[in-house]
Amino acid sequence: MPNVNSGKINLLRIAPPLGASTSMAITFSQLLALSPFHATRVEKIACYHCDEKMRQTKALYVKFNGQQRAVCCHGCMAILQTIERNDMIEDYLAARSMQIDVR
Ligand SMILES: [Zn+2]
Repeated sequence: MPNVNSGKINLLRIAPPLGASTSMAITFSQLLALSPFHATRVEKIACYHCDEKMRQTKALYVKFNGQQRAVCCHGCMAILQTIERNDMIEDYLAARSMQIDVR
């Protein structure tokens, strides 16, 4: 039998059962804390561009008009970056406010 294989077996035997169960308990409580079922509520935010609701953890962030804005996808991110690069921020914001007035 090669030396590499026997080394792996020795490593497994060395691990103490008590230490292993303790580290598993810590991992399990950490999992509970991270679990969506354990959380009081899931934070949902709206995409800055298209208003799509998304989990905050799924949001992408893009710098637009000097601020970090949350967007739902790379498409919305590309739109905001294109508007900023082409100096169309004022037009964009004006169009947005007109849309809000119509509603
Ligand atoms: Zn979007």
